[in-house]
Order: sequence, then C-alpha cells, then structure tokens
Amino acid sequence: MSNRARSNVTRPSRPFRAPEKDCKVCKKPAFCEHYGVFSCNSCKSFFKKALDKGPHYCLKLGVCMKNPDLMSKCKACWFQKCVELGMTSCSLRKLRGSNEKLFDLVKNLLLIDVRRTSKIAGFYTSDDPTLDELVVNPRCLKPCEKDPSQILSILDWCFLLNSLQVVFFLDFEFIQNLPTMDKIYMFKANNLNDCMLAGAMRSVQSDWETLRTPTGHAYNTFELINQVDNSKELLKVIEKRVVEKMVDIKVTHEEFVLLSMVFFLDPATPNISETTAKTLAEYQNYYASALLQYCEFYHQKDAPTRFVDLLSIKSIVHKNTSDLKYLYLTFQNAITDLKIKKILFSTCDLPGAPQTYLGSENG
Ligand SMILES: [Zn+2]
Ligand SMILES: [Zn+2]
Repeated sequence: MSNRARSNVTRPSRPFRAPEKDCKVCKKPAFCEHYGVFSCNSCKSFFKKALDKGPHYCLKLGVCMKNPDLMSKCKACWFQKCVELGMTSCSLRKLRGSNEKLFDLVKNLLLIDVRRTSKIAGFYTSDDPTLDELVVNPRCLKPCEKDPSQILSILDWCFLLNSLQVVFFLDFEFIQNLPTMDKIYMFKANNLNDCMLAGAMRSVQSDWETLRTPTGHAYNTFELINQVDNSKELLKVIEKRVVEKMVDIKVTHEEFVLLSMVFFLDPATPNISETTAKTLAEYQNYYASALLQYCEFYHQKDAPTRFVDLLSIKSIVHKNTSDLKYLYLTFQNAITDLKIKKILFSTCDLPGAPQTYLGSENG
C-alpha cells in the first residue's frame, strides 16, 4: 500500500494544491476533479454550459477531437471528449452510489448518442445503397464533400438521418448478430420512428419548438413543401407533435437514450423469426427495467406515472411517422421524376421500391 499521507496534516485542502497533473481533456494544468474527471477550470465550465445547451454538431466529422487546438473551437468535439473521458452530470453521478450497473449502462448509451449526434450535421454522401445493402455492409456509406451551394432537401435529410440511424443500431453487437433478414425487417418497421424520436430530442436539447434539420433549418422552408398543395399544413403538425409532448413532460437525455432502445427493440416487429423475437423481448425487457429503475431513483413514488408518461410517447411518434409517410407519398404522387434515395422506399413504405429491395434469396 502506498499511503503517503503525513500524520501531521489535518485535512488536505484541495484548492491550495499546486497543479500536479494535466487536464485529461485538454492537457492544460489542472488541480482537481470536476464532473468525475481530473480537469481544468475551462473544461469544467465548458462542460457545465454544454450540458444545458446541447446537442452539439461537428461540421468536420469529428476530426477536431484529435487536434487539441481545433478541439476547443468545436463544441461538439470538446463535449464528446469530455463524455468519452467519463464526465457526467452531477445528477447522473448521484445514481452511481446506489446503482452502479445502471449508472454505467446510461453513461455508455449517452456516450454512443453523443458520438452519433455530433457527426450528423457534417455528414453527407452521394452513395445510394438499398436498405439490405446497407444492413449487410454498413461501411458502404462513405462520407463525401458537399458542394457548398447545394441545399439539401427534406428527402435528402430524411435519407441521411435514416441511413446513419441504421449504422448506429448496427454498432450494437447483439443487433449485428441477428439474421440479416430480421435486421432488415426491424429497420423497415422501426427506423423512421427512432429517427423521429431522436430528431425531437435534438430539438428539445437545442430549445427549438419544432423538428428541424441538424443544421437548424426549419423543414417548411424546403421547396418541395411549396410545390405540393396542403403539405405545409400537414408538415406543421408533424414538426410540432412529438417535440411538444417531450417538452411538456420534460424528457431528459438519459431517459431518451433508454426509451429509444425500448422502442426500437420491438419483439412485435412484423415478419421476424421467432428466435429474433425472443432475443428482442429479452433486450427490450432489460432496457425497460433499466428505465423503470431510473424513474424509481429520480421520481420515487411517482415512478410508475413517469414510466407510463415516457412510454406514451411511442404512440405519438407512430402517429407522426405515419403522417410523414403520407406526406412523402403526396410528394411522390405530385412530382414526377422526384429523386428519392433507395433506403427511403423501405423505411418510409413508399411504393415502387427498387429491384434489389428485400432482394434475391440466392446468396
Ligand atoms: Zn481542460
Ligand atoms: Zn469537431
């Protein structure tokens, strides 16, 4: 044992210590731990502000994380570094003492979500795989440079968010290990719902009252909307519905990451095999009971009400995606030669899916 404490020292008082280590985040001199990580004052106050005012988007696909000079200029990469190193809110750390396992689970889900969110705004690709191609090989999506004058349409955004969502879920090993066809059925049934939930959460965190693109643009400014009668009205409803509910019941980021797993891992997904349904039921149970424990810790006797409130978001999300699918269908019907990326035929249930879709069984 290396106990270096001297007997004549009454109590070591932290603020007077000379900086003895570098800040784990930015490598500048630091004195003590903040938010659970040895860090300097500027990283501490950055993290405090960032917790209130997320989410953060990197426009360079996260490269600034690797360069300390760039990192402090990019909120997304700075925040991600803090979270990667284990910084957590004071409120979440309270959980640590009473339920370490749940604390670790939530902390990891938050990290995975921060990673996916930070790269969304900067991601662009001209690739156009089908859903099955993407499921078989998630690496087939290669980011490429966007022509700065090019404005993405509502359908482009829907494609990017949908495909990144597929890649995100395939990062979970137990999902990766499911049979390919079952994965395709899962994404076909649930991907758009989770995009909707995640999009609404990003709006809540950014203090936007409606769904917006990750770059902060309102969807109703897109040209497509003006070209098709009545679509503006329907879009107005879609933009507000889920966000309003989530603001209303004040869904936290921690609740969202658990809820997203509970919704996505749906054993009632049509067409999946019995074995997969069983696996999904197990995992869904696992995340649902984690969510319930989380509610119990933070809401005590009101936990059951909180839990039910959170689960009630599901039907609102479903109503919203079914309206969104209808909106896309009206675009498709009204505009001949509308360019729609292949994945959207599957995740948005649009007619006229390209040939390879749920394609050849010939292996
Ligand atoms: Zn620092
Ligand atoms: Zn960055």
